[in-house]
Amino acid sequence: MNCQYRRRRLKMMNQALSLLKRYFGYSQFRKGQDKVIHSLLQSSDTVAIMPTGAGKSLSYQIPALLFDGVTLVISPLISLMKDQVDSLHEAGVPATFINSSLSMQEAWERINKARQGRYKLLYIAPERLEAESFLTLLESLTISFVAVDEAHCVSQWGHDFRPSYRKIGAFVESLPRRPIIGAFTATATQEVREDIVSLLKLESPQVFVTGFDRPNLKLSTLKGENKKVFISTYCLQHRSESGIIYAATRKEVDQLQTYLKGKGLLVGKYHAGMSDLDRQKAQEAFLYDKTPLMVATNAFGMGIDKSNVRFVIHYNMPKNMEAYYQEAGRAGRDGEPAECILLFAPQDVVLQRYLIDNNTFNPERKANEHKKLQDMADYCHTARCLRKEILEYFGETEIPAECGNCGNCTDDWDVVDVTVDTQKILSCVLRMGERFGVNLVAEVLKGSGNKKIMDFRFHQLSTYGLMSKRTIQEIKDQINYLIAEDYLRLSTGEYPVVKCGRKAAPVLKGNEQVLQKVLRKAKLQEEESLTLFDYLRGLRREAAAKEGLPPYMIFPDSTLREMAESCPRNRAEFLRLGGVGEKKLEKYGDIFLQGIEEFFRKQGINPSETMDKAPARPPLEKTSEPQPEPAGGEEPQKSESKIPSHLITYRLYQEGKSLEEIAKLRSYKMITLQDHLLRAFKEGQPLSWSDFIPEDQEQLILTAIQQVGMEKLRPIKDALPAEVDWMAIKSVIAKNFGT
Ligand code: ADP
Ligand code: MG
Ligand code: ZN
Repeated sequence: MNCQYRRRRLKMMNQALSLLKRYFGYSQFRKGQDKVIHSLLQSSDTVAIMPTGAGKSLSYQIPALLFDGVTLVISPLISLMKDQVDSLHEAGVPATFINSSLSMQEAWERINKARQGRYKLLYIAPERLEAESFLTLLESLTISFVAVDEAHCVSQWGHDFRPSYRKIGAFVESLPRRPIIGAFTATATQEVREDIVSLLKLESPQVFVTGFDRPNLKLSTLKGENKKVFISTYCLQHRSESGIIYAATRKEVDQLQTYLKGKGLLVGKYHAGMSDLDRQKAQEAFLYDKTPLMVATNAFGMGIDKSNVRFVIHYNMPKNMEAYYQEAGRAGRDGEPAECILLFAPQDVVLQRYLIDNNTFNPERKANEHKKLQDMADYCHTARCLRKEILEYFGETEIPAECGNCGNCTDDWDVVDVTVDTQKILSCVLRMGERFGVNLVAEVLKGSGNKKIMDFRFHQLSTYGLMSKRTIQEIKDQINYLIAEDYLRLSTGEYPVVKCGRKAAPVLKGNEQVLQKVLRKAKLQEEESLTLFDYLRGLRREAAAKEGLPPYMIFPDSTLREMAESCPRNRAEFLRLGGVGEKKLEKYGDIFLQGIEEFFRKQGINPSETMDKAPARPPLEKTSEPQPEPAGGEEPQKSESKIPSHLITYRLYQEGKSLEEIAKLRSYKMITLQDHLLRAFKEGQPLSWSDFIPEDQEQLILTAIQQVGMEKLRPIKDALPAEVDWMAIKSVIAKNFGT
């Protein structure tokens, strides 16, 4: 019995997997998806709480393909619905939607087709459930599954309450045969979860909460930056990427958008003060990468399933961690690396506090909101791993050690000694009697001659003009940094004044240093060379324009990245890419395959030659496995030859391109390219060591190896002067020891 059950279960999951590959082009379920799908296939009501980007849609779309009859998907936004249906069409899945944009006649036709089995999924807006006539239409259908997307909309505790979601429970009960219900959301709070179960009238549901970890997101917080300058520099450096900038108020959104436009950036805006039409246009231009940048208030977001958002910058600190993680989480849905940067200023806390105090919440709720605000501010101040902080906040049990990929774990920073400036600012604040705001303090330090300063005789202070070489804005940024770090503090109230903070005294006495972390300034790339990735992106844009679809719907960035890395040469190789199913192969395979060939031809490279070249020397070791034999039926296609990526790098290097050039061309990190070359060497290709090992370093490195061994590289690096780089160490080892 047990065995039979297991076999059946295996069979079901195998069917699910083959649909995943055939339609969506992926070869594995993500964490959590398999459990949710399995539960649904067992006919259990199921609640899936998974973070943004985790892949909730597939978790109901795959079961929908396996169930008899039709699946109703209840989805809150018309735009979201249309996107999902377009995406499904691209994948070859028969689906449609019904919402208020259709006439009764059209709705009837679609339902009729569904009855004939010509649609497996029917997306509807919850408001439809309030129309008697519509419910009558539905009666003719066999509905085996109702998937409630964004299920938190049913709860008043959530942030997007939608009264029509309350109709779902009764609707399900009214059906002749009760369907399975699946509820999907990213909101994890206990109140919302309980509401979902009770208001949707779920019957002993299985509840799955998958991890909140999003390893591809690089989180960082920055203090004391000039926010506008930071954002424009960042966006210019990431010109070809799509990003969202969240600001707290409409006014700030307007200003920021104007400012960024002035810098020549393609940037749209979105806030609740705009007309419906303008908002819709802005959203569409963003989805279609016409304006890849969006400046918006938190009104922008739900229903933005754009998978290739590469960064989310917060111009202001949000009111709590839930809001922050949800907004930041809109980056990198495709699983590719993405950045989430929060620009902190102490005024943000003051503003949020003011908003809470002036709200009509009851005292208990107010206290709770204040606590959440404090948690948010703490996140901005911590020196600990940010990813760890977030996961702990959400009560995650499996927490990784330091992530090595957040602003606090990486060393993209320079540490600057700002003790002297701090002393100047602190003593100025004291001399002004701790009674004025940031602006006036900055003006005194600058030495401005305005009337207020004269009236108060501040031009007679010894600190007047002490920082005259700096701009007012720079001085204000510095003051804000000191507030953020508790050297100064802001009083509460409508006109906050600057006072000395907890950490001021020892600095004033000269007993303590003040060190500030500043983001290492990356140089703007001067000449832009076209990478294969960029080239493929161009092809995608053309294909998208032809189809009238947003580019990410043709292929997500992750597929393009994989394509650029593995350079498929034929349809079989193309089908192996993540995100390429049968329909997409049919539709786009040839365009992209020809494009790749074309790209290399223009670079004067014939990639297939690289493959044919016999090794110059016998391989030194067999551990690196160029093409292993297929092991017992597990993904046998993989054994087909494709040009190994490291040999493409090697070939380019042989042609005299520098690693920097190759890095740009192939959009790889330097370290990966270095490993490529070493791997090629180990397989027998010659390398010119003097390119990597400076003359005077080889002996140094060998000596260090004698001292600390070479099992691990880190101890060797630590035993050497800082200017000796990793590549030199690895090269010395490869050259002298062949490993
Ligand atoms: P959610 O609704 O949970 O926020 P989506 O359903 O929009 O997330 O999925 C986010 C992205 O993840 C989509 O681009 C989707 O194609 C991709 N995705 C989903 N499942 C998988 C999988 N098993 N393997 C690879 N990518 C996946
Ligand atoms: Mg979703
Ligand atoms: Zn970290």
